[in-house]
Order: sequence, then structure tokens, then C-alpha cells
Amino acid sequence: MSSQGQFSAGALRGAGRGVVDHRLARRHLVNEFRRGRLRQDQVCDAHPELIRAARNLGTESRSTCPICQEAKLRLVTYVFGSRLPSHGRCVSTAKEMAALNQRSDDLTAYVVEACVECRWHHLLRVLPVGGRTARTPRTG
Ligand SMILES: [Zn+2]
Repeated sequence: MSSQGQFSAGALRGAGRGVVDHRLARRHLVNEFRRGRLRQDQVCDAHPELIRAARNLGTESRSTCPICQEAKLRLVTYVFGSRLPSHGRCVSTAKEMAALNQRSDDLTAYVVEACVECRWHHLLRVLPVGGRTARTPRTG
């Protein structure tokens, strides 16, 4: 399957079902690369859309890219869910995120790190956003 199709949650490495610890998965991948078991093009294959978002909307993180070590990683947050585009909504401000969090729909935010130099990318966190259960105050 090509990873160059339309951007979706599936284009975010680590977003597959069953992955529970994204940090562990990331460390494993970086180790495999450093041991020479994975080539750079196998781990640096971010979707062009993700790189564009990282460059234009991403926030710079304090960590340096673990693969090329030439650039600071940039963090991008995508929110997926009903009434949002199938390729997700790239959220770049806290205000925008707060607005999405007010929604009654169950949405999911994916925080991804990406390197605009070498195209390394990895999912860092998956967070629930909005949803009635999260917003309803407990009574009794
Ligand atoms: Zn890099």
C-alpha cells in the first residue's frame, strides 16, 4: 500500500491498533535504525502533507531529530472525528484546541513529531478531545 495517498490517521506512524506505548515504539524504531537494521528511507517517510504542516503550523520541540540530528523536531497536532475532514484538522493554537474540546462529538487528537530535514516522523500521543462523557459534570 502506498503511503503517498491522501493524508489520514493511517499515515501517522504508530497510529495502528494495538500500539499502546508510543514512546516505546519510537525508541525501538530509533534503536533499530542506529543498529543498522532499518534504512533511513524506512523511517524517514513522512507524508508530504505532514511535512508541510510541520513546517508551517508545527511548534518547535526541544528535542533534536534522533535520525539526522540536524534539526529540532516539530510537533503537529491533528484532530480526527465526525464532522471533521477525513484527513483530520491540523490544530496549531490552544484556542482552536479548546474550541474542539467543547464539542459533544468524540474526537481524537494525534500529536506527531516530524523532522522537516529528513522526514522522520512518529506519533507521540493520542488524546481524547471533546465528547459528552468528558464534559458532563458528575452529579451524584
Ligand atoms: Zn531529521
